[in-house]
Amino acid sequence: MTAEDAPFLNTYARFPVELVAGQGCRVRDAQGRWYLDACAGIAVMALGHRHPTVAAAVQRQLDQLWHTSNLFHVPVQSAFAERLAGSMGGGAVFLCNSGAEANEAAVKLARKHHWLRDDPREEVLVLEGAFHGRTLMTLAMTPRPAYQAPFGPLPGGVRVAAPEDAATAVSARTAAVFVEPVQGEGGCRSLLHLLPGLREACDAHGALLVYDEIQCGLGRTGRWCHAPAPDLTTFAKALGGGLPLGALLTNPALSGTFTPGDHGSTFGGNPLACAAGLATLDVILAEDLPARCGRLGARLRAGLEATGASVTGEGLMLAAHLGRPAGPVLTAMRERGVLTCGAGPESVRFLPPFVLSEAEADELLAVFAEAVSVTA
Ligand SMILES: *Cc1c(COP(=O)(O)O)cnc(C)c1O
Repeated sequence: MTAEDAPFLNTYARFPVELVAGQGCRVRDAQGRWYLDACAGIAVMALGHRHPTVAAAVQRQLDQLWHTSNLFHVPVQSAFAERLAGSMGGGAVFLCNSGAEANEAAVKLARKHHWLRDDPREEVLVLEGAFHGRTLMTLAMTPRPAYQAPFGPLPGGVRVAAPEDAATAVSARTAAVFVEPVQGEGGCRSLLHLLPGLREACDAHGALLVYDEIQCGLGRTGRWCHAPAPDLTTFAKALGGGLPLGALLTNPALSGTFTPGDHGSTFGGNPLACAAGLATLDVILAEDLPARCGRLGARLRAGLEATGASVTGEGLMLAAHLGRPAGPVLTAMRERGVLTCGAGPESVRFLPPFVLSEAEADELLAVFAEAVSVTA
């Protein structure tokens, strides 16, 4: 059986590469060829592959305890929650396994918040270009006809606004506004300039402001936190250092909203994932990697712009918009030893590990420039 014949449901158009190993910013295929990994598991491998601090933390936890359920206290899980909340300005954490689950928890919490105040609100406001996940509710919050059409009826209560009009769309019916500070699947579109207006509108109408930091969070944009502070934040992708881990973080005022029985997850906050996540947060903070993302991002951006591409995004979350199909460029890059992914049909997305070196950034740029020129 070849990899292409494996009995999977047909949900992914996979690249014809079989990966078997990784180290730092590089991955190796089954034929022994190494690639520079500028996709990093879709913004997951912030510290690169098999970072020694993360590996040691997971190994220690492997020797202690793998899973207990959330019916008991587990020290590594508590330490992880404390580090995440503590580094973000306080509040309380619900741990889950993925981004979609973190956003589902945020919708439930927002609705309960209003229900507790005898002001039940259904409406969840999302922005055009958003991506919030693939479960039925988060799919309803991902306004793309091609993704949604076959799967109706989707849960109700979702309203869509153009990013520039979102603040004026907030009303006394709005339970929560969900925004990715930098939209990921939407093409690395920075919405940082809209956050103050959204904060003001939410405050005026008593709506909760939710930052979906699942792709752009934890330093990738060059910032550890995005301002002004939201009411709720969702994380996943890089949070578990490569193991599946998601989180909903509330501000301190909302930390009492859920009570036992409101929500739960069998695997959420799995000890191995928390050990990897705790080590990952520690390294990102100790080495001030958000600042590094900002510096490296500026270098990468300048190099991409020098090829004539129009570039959007922040830090190490960039998209080069080509004005022609990106597929051939992705293929030409792969043939030259660099893996990355698209962001829509005409854009190449760069989501490298935070630990990318200057030399690796330049290698990436040289390969991109050559791929653009040979496919022109
Ligand atoms: C990837 C992503 C999600 C969904 O995360 P999963 O772990 O795939 O469920 C949600 N929001 C954003 C911004 C994402 O990039």
